[in-house]
Amino acid sequence: MFDLNGKSVVVTGATKGIGYGIAEVFAVAGANVAVVARTAEEVASAAGKLDACGPGRTLGVCADIADPESCRAMSAEVVAAFGGIDVLCSNAGIMPQAPLATMTAADLAAVLDVNLAGTIFAVQACLAPLTACGAGRIVLTSSITGPITGYPGWSHYGASKAAQLGFMRTAALELAPRKITINAILPGNILTEGLAEMGEQYLAGRAAAIPAGTLGSPADIGHLAAFLASWEAGYITGQAIAVDGGQTLPESFDAVRPAE
Ligand code: NAP
Repeated sequence: MFDLNGKSVVVTGATKGIGYGIAEVFAVAGANVAVVARTAEEVASAAGKLDACGPGRTLGVCADIADPESCRAMSAEVVAAFGGIDVLCSNAGIMPQAPLATMTAADLAAVLDVNLAGTIFAVQACLAPLTACGAGRIVLTSSITGPITGYPGWSHYGASKAAQLGFMRTAALELAPRKITINAILPGNILTEGLAEMGEQYLAGRAAAIPAGTLGSPADIGHLAAFLASWEAGYITGQAIAVDGGQTLPESFDAVRPAE
């Protein structure tokens, strides 16, 4: 089951954090993985590390998903190298904070350009090869923030992540005749390099709000992405699945750790 050996997989935002974790799971499973991000040295470094993870090939591609032309060039480069695209993990995103009272039009545009428009551009650019493969898979990285929860300073980010789901549902209908599925993962608090920099006290506070008692790992997201990308998940489309250790379930603090 879940044979991803030899599949051609594009992961945007794969140089670090959740994207790297997703790319690593696919590389270990034997897929050919294209690592996409904007920073050339980080793309080369991540692709080099991933190359040693499995029998498949790794390709580093510099692209800005907020630019449709850059997305088209990225897709063409992957097809030229791997012969096609079976799976797109549209994961790249940015999370700057901006309180509503002081948020500028530029703050809002920056987040929507990458998180929402960038998702749509990446999907559009990969549509032809995903259709050609006969069982294309698209996995979006959304968030619990927006679709389920809120967090002060992230109203624009939450809006972008909820909007990804609105896009996904209609895309699922349009892509079903092409035998392409599209689903979204909603990560909770995942221990990425960025979050680790916040310090032990911050991380302990975050973990205390999670019924599972710990933050998630990038691989936790990668494992669901791998399942949704598999042949076996072919009847699942247009769905949003939280991977959050139960973080979005408690009604109140005392429900996080109920007394025995
Ligand atoms: P991260 O560590 O900051 O990594 C972001 C990645 O995206 C980097 O590889 C970055 O490389 C790339 N990227 C950013 N803008 C890009 C653009 N315009 N074009 C191409 N690549 C771009 O982020 P993360 O925390 O792993 O988050 C990844 C995704 O998960 C995001 O969509 C985020 O909203 C979502 N998420 C994260 C968490 C969490 O706990 N971390 C929780 C819920 C959802 P360059 O900057 O070099 O391009």
